[in-house]
Amino acid sequence: MPGIESHAPSDFIRTRIEHDIETNKNNGSVVTRFPPEPNGYLHIGHAKSICLNFGIAREYKGRCNLRFDDTNPSKEDVEYVNSIQADVTWLGFDWGDGLHYASDYFEQLYQYAVQLITDGNAYVCSLSEEDMKSYRGTLTEPGKDSPYRNRPAQENIDLFGRMRAGEFKAGAHVLRAKIDMASCNMNLRDPILYRIRHAAHHRTGSRWCIYPMYDFTHCLSDAIEGVTHSICTLEFENNRPLYDWVLDRLPVACHPQQIEFARLNLTYTIMSKRKLGKLVEQGHVTGWDDPRMPTLSGLRRRGYTPGSIRNFCDRIGVAKRNSVVDMALLEFSLREELNQRAPRVMGVLRPLRVVIENYPENKTEELDALNNPEDPDMGTRKVPFSRVLYIEQEDFCEDPPKKFFRLAPGREVRLRYAYYITCQQVVKDTRTGEVIELHCTYDPDSRGGSSPDGRKVKSTLHWVSAPHSLTVEVRLYDHLFLKPVPDDDADGASFLDFLNPQSLETLTSGRVEPGLAGAVPGSLFQFERLGYFCVDLKDSSDNHLVFNRTVTLKDTWAKIQAKQAQ
Ligand code: ATP
Ligand code: MG
Repeated sequence: MPGIESHAPSDFIRTRIEHDIETNKNNGSVVTRFPPEPNGYLHIGHAKSICLNFGIAREYKGRCNLRFDDTNPSKEDVEYVNSIQADVTWLGFDWGDGLHYASDYFEQLYQYAVQLITDGNAYVCSLSEEDMKSYRGTLTEPGKDSPYRNRPAQENIDLFGRMRAGEFKAGAHVLRAKIDMASCNMNLRDPILYRIRHAAHHRTGSRWCIYPMYDFTHCLSDAIEGVTHSICTLEFENNRPLYDWVLDRLPVACHPQQIEFARLNLTYTIMSKRKLGKLVEQGHVTGWDDPRMPTLSGLRRRGYTPGSIRNFCDRIGVAKRNSVVDMALLEFSLREELNQRAPRVMGVLRPLRVVIENYPENKTEELDALNNPEDPDMGTRKVPFSRVLYIEQEDFCEDPPKKFFRLAPGREVRLRYAYYITCQQVVKDTRTGEVIELHCTYDPDSRGGSSPDGRKVKSTLHWVSAPHSLTVEVRLYDHLFLKPVPDDDADGASFLDFLNPQSLETLTSGRVEPGLAGAVPGSLFQFERLGYFCVDLKDSSDNHLVFNRTVTLKDTWAKIQAKQAQ
């Protein structure tokens, strides 16, 4: 078809949209939206919805709005509005001039409500909250009509106007749709459309004291904006008949097609703004952007790149059935990108001092090191070598077990880009017995780490020069939760009971090569043999470098796949 990029339909949503384009529904146009409620920071689940909505608009040459569904004055805040915009932009998407707020439609929504009342489709109900609940019935029993259901339209209009004017206390009256109290879909049992809330709103101030409910607002906001495809998560499937009921009774220009897909769940974390907010409030994390959080701001601070998150979202695709995606897949998507582009450096997390006895004091050599073996274009750098070095404590073992090939008494290993060294003597703290220093010799003929006479060593270690290296703080992260699916459970346990008490380990005496002086916050490196690390966006400074371990080098995803293939 002219004007449509030809590509194979890749999921049921795109198939549906392509069908609508082909049949010229909505004149063949595609308008989507991402509609967050500004009551918290966005998480990786939202990224799935953002990639889907903005991605579809891009693919079909349509547009995608960013609309804040801001109908609940007490839970929302401009802090969230600003962070959401920053996160969507960071992910690489642009709403152009399509920035909207449901609160901008409050007057229009009020007029729509009046119209429903006039047409006999809505009424003011004055039942108490308790009575309303008991009248509602249950999943197995029909509800009962409210005694106010047949109030004359004029009385309803009068009351509704006085609700708006602030004459009543919260809870005195609500506006309800007049649908069917016996419907097997509970959403259709005369749902509330408006309630009284004497609360200031972050955008409309104290202009309103009645607020439209989410369901009423959401479908009409979509219609007002001319959204053709209203893509949402599965839990809204049972709300669709209500949305259609509202849209069929009002003179809207466009009746959006709702399409539901399964929300993203990830192992070892949670995906609910309410619960994430609790972690922040109760101090289990340092904030919404704590690098352990599945929020976009947390992932960004952890070192995740927008590209890796977009690739992850492409990879998981969309489905109609809820499932839990392995966190290892998200990590895999990041590693894949960082392997290509992160410069390699050497850093030692837990330093063990090594003195090269036969290396001259006061001598320094500048050795060549590759910046990225995956990409020769990234060139080389100089790394200083001297008589006193640091290696990783765990790369030495005084009494090595069979499969330990790293440094041990009398054993020779290669120092990456440097020399072969042999451990001659182990120095211990006389009080604690702890190994505090190794005395080694080096082979001057092995410069650059090449074998002098064809003799082989079984391992290559990373290292830094003690006098040249920089002391840094390193933060090692583990899963926030111990349980793969940390939901509240039937035995009364809360998700908070599954928090991993060891999700953060802070090391204060890490050492990195001197080239990292002045490393820019947010920049990413591979510490050879250890993983990918990024300079913390908040706490790092030139005087005190702080590195977050973004992800280790261990590809657990490959293992999971191999297991599944068996
Ligand atoms: P939360 O429970 O985290 O508050 P929500 O659905 O209430 O989530 P909204 O601000 O209403 O949050 O979400 C904005 C959009 O993001 C909605 O269209 C919603 O369907 C979608 N979304 C939210 N969570 C997920 C998820 N885990 N996977 C995919 N899409 C999601
Ligand atoms: Mg919500």
